[in-house]
Amino acid sequence: MLRHDWSLEEALEIYHQPFPDLMFQAQSIHRENFPGNTIQRSTLLSIKTGGCPEDCSYCPQSAHYDTGVDREGVLPTEVVLAQARQAKTEGSTRFCMGAAWREVKDGKEFDQVIKLVEGVSDLGLEVCCTLGMLSAPQAERLKAAGCHAYNHNLDTSPEYYEEIISTRTYQDRLDTLKNVRDAGITVCCGGIVGMGEATKDRVGLLVELASHSTHPESVPINMLVKVEGTPLAEENDVDPIDFVRMIATARILMPKSYVRLSAGRMEMSEEMQALCFVAGANSMFAGDKLLTTPNPKDDADRNLVKKLGMKYQDDANSTREQTSCSKIPSATADVANGGPSQSLS
Ligand code: SF4
Repeated sequence: MLRHDWSLEEALEIYHQPFPDLMFQAQSIHRENFPGNTIQRSTLLSIKTGGCPEDCSYCPQSAHYDTGVDREGVLPTEVVLAQARQAKTEGSTRFCMGAAWREVKDGKEFDQVIKLVEGVSDLGLEVCCTLGMLSAPQAERLKAAGCHAYNHNLDTSPEYYEEIISTRTYQDRLDTLKNVRDAGITVCCGGIVGMGEATKDRVGLLVELASHSTHPESVPINMLVKVEGTPLAEENDVDPIDFVRMIATARILMPKSYVRLSAGRMEMSEEMQALCFVAGANSMFAGDKLLTTPNPKDDADRNLVKKLGMKYQDDANSTREQTSCSKIPSATADVANGGPSQSLS
């Protein structure tokens, strides 16, 4: 039975248990809920890059930082659809489109995004969007166009959040997540490890996510990509075992959610990624670039999956996440690294 009332103390106990016990528990729960050797492959494309007015400390697309990322307009429809077709050919079942916006504004650009959602959905791919804050009517429009999932990360614990972002609140993010849920779109919501937070903040994020009356269907766990020019460029490296513990704890607290390896895989060894899969990660972003930061080459991922005797989930229709219309309680919320870059916003 899914639980929504984990205490921080209980979750920390899970996180800190002896590593073999943690891995055994996570892998056992994983196999009760998912095929043991299958990875969902997702592709993420930045459809509108740079110039974001938010100040997320990890994000190279923030206009507050000098990172060399230029502001661009929304990509032409034919360019996006060509990338979606290629992603499908390469084995992706989900195509996520990210825009570096604070919030969606009604008008020409949102109309264009709606056309993109319709076009990608028509290709038979699960469509995910990450466009910033979203009103209830905008969420309904996305749903009607075929949007399956919406990514809006909470990034970290409620207590640490203000150390990372000042231009919008945790509650803003929770409000967007509620609008997404109410529209019947599945929720993709996770965070970032390596922003100077304590273990209790990492685990606190997971407790927050698991407290929602419906767990996010996707939980992206990013490892900070340290980008020059951002305030977090000099942060300490994340201990690989700590990261694997985070994945395992996510799997245990949210047994039926896809746990997704997202940003930071360029810095992960094959061994570390393999441990993440054993810990219950069952999805990853593929493609040379994740929004604006580098990601492992498709060949490298394919070789790793083969070497491990695993396989990509290749039938989107038979494995789609269940959409639930349950409401999110007023205390939780948003996507893949905040804005499109490590995670999405
Ligand atoms: S993470 Fe998203 S919201 Fe934050 S600055 Fe980057 S693009 Fe903007």
